Amino acid sequence: TTFVIAVDGPSGSGKSSTARGVAQRLGLAYLDTGAMYRAMTWALLQRGTDLTDADAIARDAEDVVIVSGTDPSDPTIEADGTDVALPIRSSEVTGSVSLVAAVPHVRELLVQLQRSTIAAAEQGIVVEGRDIGSTVAPDATVKVFLVADAAARAARRTAELGGADAAATQEALARRDHIDSTRTSSPLAKAPDAVEIDGTHHTLEEVVDQVVALVEQ
Ligand code: C5P
Repeated sequence: TTFVIAVDGPSGSGKSSTARGVAQRLGLAYLDTGAMYRAMTWALLQRGTDLTDADAIARDAEDVVIVSGTDPSDPTIEADGTDVALPIRSSEVTGSVSLVAAVPHVRELLVQLQRSTIAAAEQGIVVEGRDIGSTVAPDATVKVFLVADAAARAARRTAELGGADAAATQEALARRDHIDSTRTSSPLAKAPDAVEIDGTHHTLEEVVDQVVALVEQ
């Protein structure tokens, strides 16, 4: 079995930068599962799928082809042959992704793809998401649950978006967290054996150090 480091946590907690940093430091592959849910959402929007209709989402999701590159210094994501690295960060996709991710069949399809990507990573892999330690890779060697307080998370997201309205960003994050944590299919939940790290008052470098220390312990 592959050496897996699971990095879970809510949006804006610094998961992506941390997971990439750890993968680069340790020479491991990297997989961003949030990008896969976003790519699925982009592809369904492209098809004109009615995102209020869970059956339509489940049906159309079958035909979407998602390909994730696993190089932490150049993570790539394609949907139906198109490079979607930029459009999956749009507010349209961000505003709809929780609806798509709540559909059980979408999760089945993407979890299967995630597991085959993990199995193919011979040197080991850092996987970031919401349900990696609990569902995708319950046997992961190290499980981290990264948190940060709401204001710090909103500030990070606002900066990523090039200085959007901080209050509105915090509200949108809270709304997405609520949907993600109350859905019945695989809710956002910390695996019982995950180590919680609070990044609020730490630099990226320090958080990466903490995760690497867990790996080496
Ligand atoms: O991490 P990111 O903000 O890119 O994730 C986007 C959305 O994808 C989350 O809000 C959540 O709805 C969904 N997601 C998920 N399970 C994962 C990763 C992401 O449901 N493992």
